[in-house]
Amino acid sequence: MISNVLPFEELKKVDPVFGQFSFDDHEQIVFCNDKDTGLKAIIGIHNTVLGPALGGTRMWQYNNEWEALNDVLRLSRGMTFKSAITGLNLGGGKAVIIGDAKTQKTPELMKRFGEFVHSLSGKYITAEDVGMETSDMDLVREVTPYVTGISESKGGAGNPSPITAYGVFMGMKAAASYKFGVDNLEEKKVLVQGIGHVGESLVEHLTNEGAEVFIADINEDRLLEVSKKYGATIYTGEDLYEADVDIYAPCALGATVNDDTINKLKAKVIAGAANNQLANEKIHGELLKKKGIVYAPDFLINAGGIINVYAELEGYGKQEIIRKAENIYNTTLEIFNHSDTNNCTSHESALSIAQERILKRKTEQKK
Ligand code: NAD
Repeated sequence: MISNVLPFEELKKVDPVFGQFSFDDHEQIVFCNDKDTGLKAIIGIHNTVLGPALGGTRMWQYNNEWEALNDVLRLSRGMTFKSAITGLNLGGGKAVIIGDAKTQKTPELMKRFGEFVHSLSGKYITAEDVGMETSDMDLVREVTPYVTGISESKGGAGNPSPITAYGVFMGMKAAASYKFGVDNLEEKKVLVQGIGHVGESLVEHLTNEGAEVFIADINEDRLLEVSKKYGATIYTGEDLYEADVDIYAPCALGATVNDDTINKLKAKVIAGAANNQLANEKIHGELLKKKGIVYAPDFLINAGGIINVYAELEGYGKQEIIRKAENIYNTTLEIFNHSDTNNCTSHESALSIAQERILKRKTEQKK
């Protein structure tokens, strides 16, 4: 299960779309179905006030369609706020393809998906997410211009994951500075959960800085590979949420900060790449604050990827990409200060600043 707020039995109790908490003012939801290729996808367009809805496509074997719908709704909503807080002129959208990326993803299916994206005439622009590769975006590019994250050889900005990892690293350093008084992570114990595209790159930054890095993943081969490459320690404890570390970096799934895990956490800082880390934004944001755990809002510090793909639309280069990702450090510190001043959680602070920007633009558009 990925980033679900509620278990399936709870989801069923309310109306399937408009009744869901995650629906939260979505502008449009598109269900895409193609028997020939086996494509079953959902595109969520949450908000287009600041610009076209840009967000990646995730391919995942969901337990049922409710989970897929809930996931896309949660993710597209997150994209709206991610772009808004990063100062990009983009709205929020996301897509999910239901299925196993390892066995069910074919070039035909990806191109058919691209045709559905094209039918939205640029209101939604897609990119890479879990289960997707740059080469998949290249296939989508064959049928629509409304795609980012294509290969550098084809004029794109390439794989966004290293920039995402760099932004997370910046956000983590800001959180460390706020909590520990120094932003240097040397000798800090950091647990990275999920060492995929982003997680591995984060491990590299951390080891270069001299942090003591622990890694966890469900993929044994990845663990051995990354451990060997960077000298990171494979976490072998019973329950990784109980790990005796300074910093917990969720880089796999959403909703890992929940009723079950929150009381076990020993880490004093949470800063990672996964989207929708708090199972319930309000309840778990407040619980973290009460426990004195500093939470760097996910949609703020994992914005490196969107900064990278936005370059393809705006035509800025690598230097500006890195400058923007580096600025995540300053924004993260601003958010912590804002939350202190306003006596709210860091997540609420980030959300309110993002919402203000959208509201301001909406008001200007009405004039
Ligand atoms: P990925 O698919 O490359 O890596 C995910 C890793 O997590 C894999 O190694 C997988 O084996 C592991 N994993 C899955 N379930 C796990 C579990 N239960 N416990 C431990 N490990 C588990 O994905 P990615 O591109 O590295 O993205 C990681 C997270 O960051 C995702 O939540 C994604 O939405 C988010 N994110 C990614 C980007 C980006 O640029 N790639 C940008 C923003 C946010």
